[in-house]
Amino acid sequence: MSDEIRAASYDALVIGGGIAGGEAALDLANNGYKVLLVEKDLSIGGKMILLSKVFPTLDCAACITTPKVSEISRHPGITVFTGAEVTSIEKKGEREFETAVTKRPRYVVEEDCTACQLCEEVCPVVVHDEYQYRLVGRKAAFIPFSIASPRVAAIDIENCTLCGACEKACPPKCIDFTQETEKYIIKTGTVIVATGFKLFDPLKIPRYGYGVYKNVLTSMEMERQLAPTRPFNTILRPGDGKMPDRIAYVLCTGSRDDTIGNPVCSQICCMYSLKQAQLLMGALPMADVTIYYINIRSFGKGFEEFYEQAKGMGISFVKGKVGKITETETGNLILRYEDINENRVMEEEHDMVVLAVGVLPNTDPLSFFRNGELKADQFSFVDQAEVLSSPARTSVKGVFVAGTASGPMDIPDSILSAGAASSEAISYLKQ
Ligand SMILES: Cc1cc2nc3c(=O)[nH]c(=O)nc-3n(C[C@H](O)[C@H](O)[C@H](O)COP(=O)(O)OP(=O)(O)OC[C@H]3O[C@@H](n4cnc5c(N)ncnc54)[C@H](O)[C@@H]3O)c2cc1C
Ligand code: SF4
Ligand code: SF4
Repeated sequence: MSDEIRAASYDALVIGGGIAGGEAALDLANNGYKVLLVEKDLSIGGKMILLSKVFPTLDCAACITTPKVSEISRHPGITVFTGAEVTSIEKKGEREFETAVTKRPRYVVEEDCTACQLCEEVCPVVVHDEYQYRLVGRKAAFIPFSIASPRVAAIDIENCTLCGACEKACPPKCIDFTQETEKYIIKTGTVIVATGFKLFDPLKIPRYGYGVYKNVLTSMEMERQLAPTRPFNTILRPGDGKMPDRIAYVLCTGSRDDTIGNPVCSQICCMYSLKQAQLLMGALPMADVTIYYINIRSFGKGFEEFYEQAKGMGISFVKGKVGKITETETGNLILRYEDINENRVMEEEHDMVVLAVGVLPNTDPLSFFRNGELKADQFSFVDQAEVLSSPARTSVKGVFVAGTASGPMDIPDSILSAGAASSEAISYLKQ
């Protein structure tokens, strides 16, 4: 790591380049403010850029996200750091924050890479592709995904054997193994925290067999199978590559469950499961899809109609909590559940199970400030200090929260919350 510490100033720092952070950055920049957007990942776009379609309109997620991320990347008022993290933030005075940021080396000169993918072709190393949720492989020299922004290669140095094949194949010679971690001290007048959410880890419920039974997937893995940039071009059981005929959804996996320490409703899982079930009926017209649920929470605009539409398409709904999943010799799965309407324990066989995993807090921002200055709520999301009157305000004056960093919400609510955060930030800067 180089000892040099670079200094820079902006009007606003936005941490997290998902839909909420991206929207907040655009709002600020369109009002003439200079923004630094710091994103941990190699691409901006957050989880939304990896989704298939969106409820309740079934619009294509990539078609909405791609123009947004390209507007962010090209905006003269926004500087984007990808592969970068905030290590500390100090409030020096009113409208004066000092933030330490580290930017990891990509080992590719961003400005020179043409995204020709020749490095990918020649690289001999294959590892799991985290952007396809490990359903397929990728190379150690790789472009994260086809609609990534920036669409630039990176070298996964942990798995790289330093064979040099990519360097030789790269036409503009932009692979640079001498790159080092860069350190910055950034001065800004305000900060927006948009670090998003984490997904519940289904390994914490071993009785559902995730990670052991190959045909038990998470909802994010199913999103990738349904997305336009999907890995298989159809829906396949990971266990044997067979097209599934009887697919089950297990709602509230890791939500509303005191036994795993999360009593919170994730707000999105009912609706994204209804969405995926409808998309599956389109992709596999002969398949049976069954949703096992506690209550369907279709509270938003157009949501109840979306639920009715799913029923009309022939999707089955079973009111019951799934207790246990076991695997048969063929890789099929037997769900043991309590049918609440029938008031008895039943069993049903399916050939693929999707766990509708819930939303958990990303606690990263709590460590940015010293002495717990940035307070968390009782569930470890960023606390909204004045939730009813100014929901974007946090416990630190001048620091605002946008999107799922403050709790579960869908895309339209994340965008609304980003609007609230950016307008609060603008009035704070103007005070
Ligand atoms: C399976 C599934 C399907 C869904 N389908 C729909 C749908 O159809 N319709 C809908 O409205 N909603 C849907 N959602 C919800 C949607 O994904 C969220 O509402 C949306 O992604 C929230 O955006 P966000 O920006 O708050 O968070 P995120 O998308 O989580 O983005 C946060 C960003 O911050 C970055 N970050 C995290 N920590 C740091 C750090 N320390 N430093 C810098 N950067 C950091 C992350 O890398 C990420 O890019 C779905 C969710 C799931 C899981
Ligand atoms: S040097 Fe590393 S990234 Fe490049 S081709 Fe060899 S293994 Fe792949
Ligand atoms: S690093 Fe070089 S070879 Fe790889 S995509 Fe970029 S320009 Fe092409």
